[in-house]
Amino acid sequence: MKQLFNASLKSLNSFSVEARAGQLLILESEHDLQTLKDLHQFDPKCDLVLGGGSNILFAGNIAGTVILNRISGKKIITDSDDDVLLEVSGGENWHQLVLWSLEQGLSGLENLSLIPGLVGAAPMQNIGAYGVELADVLESVHVMDLETGNSNKFGRDDCQLSYRDSRFKTADVGRYLIDRIVLRLHRRFHPKLGYDGITEELHSMGIQQATARQVSDAVIRIRQRKLPAPEVTGNAGSFFRNPVVETALADLLVKNFSGIPTYALDNGKTKLSAAWMIDQCGWKGYREGDAGVSDLHALVLVNHGNASGLQILELADEIRDSVKARFGVELVPEPRIIQ
Ligand code: NAP
Repeated sequence: MKQLFNASLKSLNSFSVEARAGQLLILESEHDLQTLKDLHQFDPKCDLVLGGGSNILFAGNIAGTVILNRISGKKIITDSDDDVLLEVSGGENWHQLVLWSLEQGLSGLENLSLIPGLVGAAPMQNIGAYGVELADVLESVHVMDLETGNSNKFGRDDCQLSYRDSRFKTADVGRYLIDRIVLRLHRRFHPKLGYDGITEELHSMGIQQATARQVSDAVIRIRQRKLPAPEVTGNAGSFFRNPVVETALADLLVKNFSGIPTYALDNGKTKLSAAWMIDQCGWKGYREGDAGVSDLHALVLVNHGNASGLQILELADEIRDSVKARFGVELVPEPRIIQ
């Protein structure tokens, strides 16, 4: 296990903002996990487990310890004509996993291509894109309870997964280190093409009946076009969740705001587009010093160079206030905010 003191977190968060950790522990093997169990008294109030740093905003330092899970490994547990159960360590890169699974002839992850971050972070907010979310393929999550040092396994239903949310982000925030997850992937491809844009992209690629790999390619093309690359311009993807509201409120908004997109959900509620509302408030492409809103996508806050986490947070507050004033809708940030 690597150990650093007073460590910079700038290269460990996709916003590329400066922040420091009192101590940084880097886990690279299951043996390191055991050492951590034996060594460390973890306190969720001042310590933090960090994945790829792609869904976090540091508006302050971490006085205690930051733990990086960089344990890698993939193992097929069972294999049948239909399904494969695949165990993946938390330190694996999510997008590389998607590509690897497609190379093995496995489908289920194609719509989740090019999502930044590591596998261990995927259950935290039940990552989702283009009508598929982790919950659709997740079997179980293996964790270490950082309060007790005990290992534990949660079946999918125990993870309390919902729209961009889970127990790991709410009731049990900071308590568990996600060691590995088990996914159920498919040998037969069942395309999910219902979301805006994918079918059009496939047609523009000259494809009528797509393979899983081609769906992945289409998603990659759309994402590369619509989202700023964090390696070039610091960002954490969508900064706000799409609000889910009572349908009566959505109907009222449709009457008052021409063109407002709404999506009816299975639970009788309606999802609104945060990006559309932010755009209507004039924020797309806005810049205040080095903190700004992407000119490609209104939902993505960016660091043009040397913005601090606090400056980005202040901009987010201004955006949230303006959307509330104009539409009466409360935006909730998607990334974890450290203050
Ligand atoms: P978009 O096409 O501009 O649409 C705006 C929003 O409308 C999306 O965020 C999506 O909600 C919702 N939507 C679109 N078609 C829908 C449908 N058929 N049924 C239900 N809801 C629908 O979206 P976008 O911003 O380019 O994003 C496309 C996908 O990539 C979305 O799934 C989005 O969540 C995902 N994405 C995620 C991140 C992230 O950082 N978490 C960043 C960029 C894109 P949902 O978000 O609920 O899917």
